[in-house]
Amino acid sequence: MIETIYVEEAIKNHPRTKFILEKFKKSRIISINKYGEIFNKRNQNFRIQKANPSLILANKKDSFVLSAPEGFGIGSSKNFYFSHMYNCIYDCRYCFLQGMYSSANYVIFVNFEDFDIAIKKTLEKNVNSKLTFFSGYDCDSLAFENVTGFAKHILTVFRTYPQIEIEFRTKSVQKEPFLSMKPMQNVILAYSLMPELMSKALDNKAPSISKRINVISELSARGWKIGLRFDPLIHGKNWKELYQDLLEYMYNKISLDSLHSVSFGSLRFPKRMYKDIFKLYPNEPLFSSPLSLNNKMISYDIEIEEEMTSYCKNLSLKYINENQIFKCSI
Ligand code: SF4
Repeated sequence: MIETIYVEEAIKNHPRTKFILEKFKKSRIISINKYGEIFNKRNQNFRIQKANPSLILANKKDSFVLSAPEGFGIGSSKNFYFSHMYNCIYDCRYCFLQGMYSSANYVIFVNFEDFDIAIKKTLEKNVNSKLTFFSGYDCDSLAFENVTGFAKHILTVFRTYPQIEIEFRTKSVQKEPFLSMKPMQNVILAYSLMPELMSKALDNKAPSISKRINVISELSARGWKIGLRFDPLIHGKNWKELYQDLLEYMYNKISLDSLHSVSFGSLRFPKRMYKDIFKLYPNEPLFSSPLSLNNKMISYDIEIEEEMTSYCKNLSLKYINENQIFKCSI
């Protein structure tokens, strides 16, 4: 239940604003000028707000499509991302958003059509490159789909560009709009996974791993391309057995023909962000694991990172080709 919804005056009559407000008939609506008045306020406490976040409906003005950071990609020469939402309905303990924003309120930008225009402009500027777009870098791309309808909307753009890839990265078990559509070969439904035992401790409020796997299985059987994202890899007691069980289970559970790619990423936080996150959760066991400063990032020691990545990669090579495996190193 969302108690309060802030609505920018400029989009109060936008059809998508009305569509979203229809879903929250009991919420208190407050009119504002700019979303930043609420979202960027000083001295907010992310942890307290996360218990009862408000929703902010806003009009995005610029920076609709951005270049993805170096080290983020699944085989294309150029990678871009866009976010129709800031923040997430889940509360993963390692999430970088809790160190990036001072507010845990959700912002939804309702002017989806401006994303379409920016995507098309990006395509025109990069006609000779292989491109991948990542939806929802600043949120979970599908978790709030039943409220926003963004994936359903943006797929209409990508349907006309079958050579351009789009990835939706998620921990949700949201099956629509995919169940009711014909599969598109340029769409990758990418699921973040970790052993259930670890997920139970870290992926707060997110669907269980077994529920995610059921959805992966169902959508892959329908013909959708699947990405498996073991990102972040979590170190801990019995990590080898836990990851071996999960990887082997996944490779046996879904048709390997439906598998677009697999990526492995390390647990990493920019130093400043780590400080802020640690302040929010000083007793979190994750932060008492062997983390240290490496190249301006707080992470496991390089040897641990490399051991985990090569272990999982070698296991995967028994099932899939090397060119399907990527390392996420941001
Ligand atoms: S699902 Fe992703 S965006 Fe959402 S809280 Fe977890 S890590 Fe953050």
